Amino acid sequence: MRAFMALELPEAFADEVAGISRALAASVEGRFVSAENHHLTLAFLGEVGEAEARSAMAALDEACAGTGPVGLRATGLGTFGRARDATLWLGIEKDPQLMALAERVRSELSTRGLAYDEKDFLPHVTLARRARMPRGALGGLAFPQPDEATRVTLFRSILGPDGARYKPLYTVEL
Ligand code: ATP
Ligand code: MG
Repeated sequence: MRAFMALELPEAFADEVAGISRALAASVEGRFVSAENHHLTLAFLGEVGEAEARSAMAALDEACAGTGPVGLRATGLGTFGRARDATLWLGIEKDPQLMALAERVRSELSTRGLAYDEKDFLPHVTLARRARMPRGALGGLAFPQPDEATRVTLFRSILGPDGARYKPLYTVEL
């Protein structure tokens, strides 16, 4: 199965992210992520078997032990890729607690011999893929109020023709 670990967005923050996404969809063409799929990836594992998935759950437990809620503060929009075919995301501040949590998650995965994507952690919430970014600035967006994330979840990702569907496999409350 295809798996990744992510912070779930708290309700108020998620509602506001959904609002930004709706506003953007009015001026940007692209494949927008549905609101229930918004999340902040901590580590992308890719293809794992049942035993590895169980091991990832143990890694999550260990990484989150003794950790409290993690601050979420939006910093602005960003893109990966070309302007005509971009991944559009909402950047999240590199809060020390958030960075430390991602670090612990990744190190607990490594300890168990589980591989993950090793690109530097850049906290973000993906809003759209295959986006055609307009030239001008995207004005008039209301960014979310700072909030705290309290749930870290191991998700299974089921790819389909209309994008991915995520199924929570295991959640730890911070
Ligand atoms: P689709 O791939 O159909 O556009 P998706 O990207 O939402 O859908 P996945 O590719 O399974 O679904 O990705 C799940 C999560 O992991 C997303 O947050 C995605 O950005 C992240 N992710 C996927 N591939 C990688 C990768 N190679 N490195 C880092 N993060 C990744
Ligand atoms: Mg993908």
